[in-house]
Parts: sequence; structure tokens; C-alpha cells
Amino acid sequence: MTDRPRSSRRDFLTSWFGGLRDATRAVVPGGSADPAKVLRPPGALAPDEAFLEACTRCGDCIPVCPVKAIITIEEADGRRLPAIDPAVTPCRLCDDLPCIAACPDGALVFPEGGPAKVRIGIAKVDPRRCVTFKGELCTRCYKACPYPDKALMMIGSRPLVGSGACTGCGLCELACPEHPKAITVVPERDLVPGLRVPRNEYSEPGKWMG
Ligand code: SF4
Ligand code: SF4
Ligand code: SF4
Repeated sequence: MTDRPRSSRRDFLTSWFGGLRDATRAVVPGGSADPAKVLRPPGALAPDEAFLEACTRCGDCIPVCPVKAIITIEEADGRRLPAIDPAVTPCRLCDDLPCIAACPDGALVFPEGGPAKVRIGIAKVDPRRCVTFKGELCTRCYKACPYPDKALMMIGSRPLVGSGACTGCGLCELACPEHPKAITVVPERDLVPGLRVPRNEYSEPGKWMG
């Protein structure tokens, strides 16, 4: 929490967000990131509706990020929401999670257990694009993962995501040399709560049974 007066913070942010619009254009090739695919910052409240309600769009999480992983995306009402585009600049999972510490509104909360327990999303390998499924050797994503053999394993020379340990940081996505990427992060808001399975791949048990 910050005890900075709101008025001075707002003044600061007016200029900050003005600059940010340019910064966003500068770091995201071809314009804005896709709002449907971007990730929330680490520690974002769940469910997503809770984060959207709590986040005041103040921008305090943005300047404290040492790698400038947090950009903004424009919402329908013209406001700008903090976001991460892992294909451009993934989260480095800082030890002290300064973005969470900077959030004055409780929209970002420290995960119990530190950075390893951050859950931004989950990485997903597309076997149609990953060259290891064509018999080629590649370990780029595996080498980039901060939790090798837990969040990302190489099984029979192919990458396999450990859903219980994957933070969704996106370092694997950035490292993948394929275009489009063969490993991408599905945002946490698009996962079935508690199961960490993408909603579009999940069919409720018994759903199609009479
Ligand atoms: S954990 Fe660090 S790298 Fe990740 S978004 Fe926060 S400040 Fe940026
Ligand atoms: S610091 Fe918190 S409230 Fe402010 S923009 Fe970032 S997530 Fe939203
Ligand atoms: S598999 Fe990818 S998204 Fe998951 S922790 Fe490893 S590098 Fe991060």
C-alpha cells in the first residue's frame, strides 16, 4: 500500500499514462497487444471480475517493473488496463514482486509461497507447430523456464508442461523461435478454476450423457 496522496498520484499518472501510450506502441510490434490474449500482472485477484473491479487503472504497478513487462491495453471505455504480452516482454518473476507491492488498491496480492506460486496463466504446447514433434531437436523453452523439470519437462525430447507448477510467466513463449509460437500462455482467466485446464478444452464430465 502507498500513503501517497491521491491527488499527487493522479497528477503523476496523468503524465505517466500519457507517456505510456507511446511506450506501449513502442514495445508492441504492429500496434496494441490483443486484449483477449494478454495476461494480467502477477498476483491479480481471481476471479477476473474481482481484479477488474479492484484495479483503479492507477498505473502504479507499471514503472516499478525492472524489465518493463507491464504495458497497458485500451478498454472499450478508453481506460487503460495493465497487462503483460509474454511474446514481447514476459514477467521475470522478481523475487520481491515489486509490481504487487506497488499496487495500492488490492488488485494485486502476494501469493503465499512467493514468485513460484504466481499464477498468471499456463503454458500450452502446440504439437502442430513445435519442431520436436517433427523430429527436430529444440530445447529453447525448457532452457528458458525458471522451474525446469517442474513447470516444463522434456519427455522423449518433447516439451511437457507441468500444470501444477507452471506460473504462466511466458519466458518459454518468448524463447520459442517458431512464428507463430509453438508454446504460448493461456491466461489464468481462461482456465477452469481449480483445474488449470483451458475452458475451451474442458468438457464437464457427463455433459453429453443423457
Ligand atoms: S514480477 Fe517483476 S518482472 Fe514480473 S511484472 Fe512484476 S515487476 Fe515486472
Ligand atoms: S497498481 Fe494495482 S490498481 Fe493500479 S493499475 Fe496496477 S493493478 Fe491496477
Ligand atoms: S513453462 Fe513457461 S510459462 Fe510455465 S513457468 Fe516455465 S517458462 Fe514460465
